[in-house]
Amino acid sequence: MTGKHHDDDDHDHAHGHEENGHHAHGHDAHHDHHHDNHYSDMQARVRALETVLTQKGLIDPQALDAIVDTYETKIGPRNGAQVVAKAWTDKTFAEWLATDATAAIASLGFTGRQGEHMRAVFNTKETHNLVVCTLCSCYPWSVLGLPPVWYKAPAYRAKAVIDPRGVLQEFGVVLPEAQKIRVWDSTAELRYLVVPQRPAGTEGWSEEQLADLVTRDSMIGTGLARPTVEVAA
Ligand code: FE
Repeated sequence: MTGKHHDDDDHDHAHGHEENGHHAHGHDAHHDHHHDNHYSDMQARVRALETVLTQKGLIDPQALDAIVDTYETKIGPRNGAQVVAKAWTDKTFAEWLATDATAAIASLGFTGRQGEHMRAVFNTKETHNLVVCTLCSCYPWSVLGLPPVWYKAPAYRAKAVIDPRGVLQEFGVVLPEAQKIRVWDSTAELRYLVVPQRPAGTEGWSEEQLADLVTRDSMIGTGLARPTVEVAA
């Protein structure tokens, strides 16, 4: 499965971040970064292949986009949705996820491609969590699949840190003023999964039913879990 959105961002650069999510490196790192302005060898090859295959009439670029979209929004994030649904229903698992997300997630069969560590951050009434990679686009592939295009866009990466509440509004999410927003900056070594708040009215629901409420964006923090009324409709 290839597509023009499937840029390989799983690079092994090592920008350091401290535990609290703030950068530990100097700003020179930004100038060394090369993801925004030109294609990597792999991106160039993928683009060339897509062009040739399209010209020969072997593929339809729109079909390719549809496949990529499916991996971005449906198939990939299903893993993360299962993790969240289990955390909602199984207190022991939730505690394990909070203390050692890498192991808890691996126990469900979802492991990173390069052994990166996972950390789960739980939304509460008091705190909403939002994930970004300010330097490039480090993303928890093992639980969310392909990163959406906006996640890689410089505008999101810059604004998420400066004005997270404004970013959420652009995604249609308006939080109570009293709810703090905490921004987590991903790295190649440590990636974050947001555990959204469990929607009201879901007492007694099965893990499978609950997983349907967990959207990709709710696990990045740019969305919330779907309300039950939306599912019933
Ligand atoms: Fe990155």
